Amino acid sequence: MHPETPMRLQAIDAELQSQGLMLDLIQFESEPASLEQITRAHSYEHVRKIEEIGRNTAIGGRIPIDNDTSMEPGSLRAALLATGAGCLAIDHVMAGSIRRAFCATRPPGHHAEKSLAMGFCLFNNVAVAALHAIEHHGLRRVAIVDFDVHNGNGTVDIFKNDERVMVCSSFQHPFYPNRHFDTLGDHLILTPINAGSKGHEFRQKVERDFFLALDRFSPELFLISAGFDAHTEDPLGGLNLIEDDYRWITSMINDVANRHSQSRIVSMLEGGYHLDALGRSVSAHIETMLND
Ligand SMILES: [Zn+2]
Repeated sequence: MHPETPMRLQAIDAELQSQGLMLDLIQFESEPASLEQITRAHSYEHVRKIEEIGRNTAIGGRIPIDNDTSMEPGSLRAALLATGAGCLAIDHVMAGSIRRAFCATRPPGHHAEKSLAMGFCLFNNVAVAALHAIEHHGLRRVAIVDFDVHNGNGTVDIFKNDERVMVCSSFQHPFYPNRHFDTLGDHLILTPINAGSKGHEFRQKVERDFFLALDRFSPELFLISAGFDAHTEDPLGGLNLIEDDYRWITSMINDVANRHSQSRIVSMLEGGYHLDALGRSVSAHIETMLND
């Protein structure tokens, strides 16, 4: 009954198949992230703790981490593959074999702080990806745009003192996780949005806050924390976005990526818990990434 279910990826797959979009995509199988990759974003103690809980699930079944986060026998491998997917996508994009990538990953990652798993998230996939681009590929400026209905508190925590990464996060406020929504820094663009807001209010605030700052920052690579739980049909979020709003923000990111980062975008799935709406929204997002 947990909303963060394998059926989410099945719903995305089914929608991409039925839209015929799969024919336009190259698919890659993820590899588990290495300890070196993960500890660029997380403390060694955090990684060891998650690994230990993961190993204990072989004996104990489901082991709770917090009220809504737990691990089961497949969780550790899923988390390592989700984290590894971003690094693999960046390797391909930096090699120039592909221009853009979408990582259909779960569990999500953006709530995972440097030393804390929470909110369905064990490792911060997008943060590990950003640091892989910087430390392994030598990039100097990376942008992360997070349009999940929840604030990417983990991403803010990891980069709050790291000006190589600009974090732009829009989120319903006040709302879970109520952490790091007021952390200050010129490279942290945090955009609270009132519950009940519709697409035009979301677009107005995001356009006002994100894009001038992104143009000034001039990132060499765009990462997206692509959560679709701000959709009006989502059971967890309280905003009222529709597929066209996801087309809009994706197109806006395409534009800045075309100007500054040789079109390079790696998008990673975060939330989105209404299965049909998730499938339709991801499809709109990928179709827009393919077209501009
Ligand atoms: Zn979310």
